[in-house]
Parts: sequence; structure tokens; C-alpha cells
Amino acid sequence: MKSRLDREKETIGVMIRMYCRYFHQTKSLCLDCLDLYDYSLNRIKCCPFGREKPLCTGCTVHCYKSDKREEIRRVMRFAGPRMILSHPVKAIDHFLAKRRLSDKRQILGIKTSITSSNRNNV
Ligand code: SF4
Ligand SMILES: [Zn+2]
Repeated sequence: MKSRLDREKETIGVMIRMYCRYFHQTKSLCLDCLDLYDYSLNRIKCCPFGREKPLCTGCTVHCYKSDKREEIRRVMRFAGPRMILSHPVKAIDHFLAKRRLSDKRQILGIKTSITSSNRNNV
């Protein structure tokens, strides 16, 4: 089975292809989308979290340059919902990764509130 990072790279490729096909009417990626794809893959490769990399949407570091970040957000907003029909397995995989991220945040929130209530009890 492919690693989570490999699946994430594939998903980004699918999303950018969907976006490019729709907005730029190309069969293969146009130069701008190819640039965004290369940039995204490079970010994943250099991610400081390594194998523990979270989804970029929930990242606290945000290593993307602001213009690239806006571009990839635009791509995801467009392609995310459409992937449910065209690539249901990848869409579910992405949804589950987002859900795990949200669960982790909730757990951290609970720990924080436990810590502060403990502090009040001291
Ligand atoms: S945005 Fe965060 S998770 Fe995504 S590649 Fe950059 S550092 Fe890693
Ligand atoms: Zn394009």
C-alpha cells in the first residue's frame, strides 16, 4: 500500500489537473498549474514534519508563499467537492485525514481545558 504522503501527492496532482482542465482547458497541465504542482510537491518533500506531516490545511507552520497558498486553496475549493464523484476513494481518504486532524485538535483542546481547570484547583 502507498504511504500517506504518496497518496497526498497523488491527490494534489488530481486536484490541480481537475482545476486546470476546467479553467485553462488543457489536456495536460498548463505552465502555471505545472509550476504550482511542482511547488506543492517540493513543499511536501521539504516539510519539517517529515513522515508525521499533517494536512497542509491544518498546519501551524504554513511554509507556502502567500501567493502559492492562495492558489492551492483556490484549487482545493474547486476540486475538493468534485472529487467525490470523480475520485471517491481519494475524496474519502482526504476526508478521513481532515477528520483525524480535527479529532487531534479537539483532544488538544480538552487537554488545554483540563490543564487550566487543574491550575484553578491548585
Ligand atoms: S504547509 Fe505545513 S504541513 Fe504543508 S508542507 Fe508546509 S510545513 Fe508541511
Ligand atoms: Zn492550468
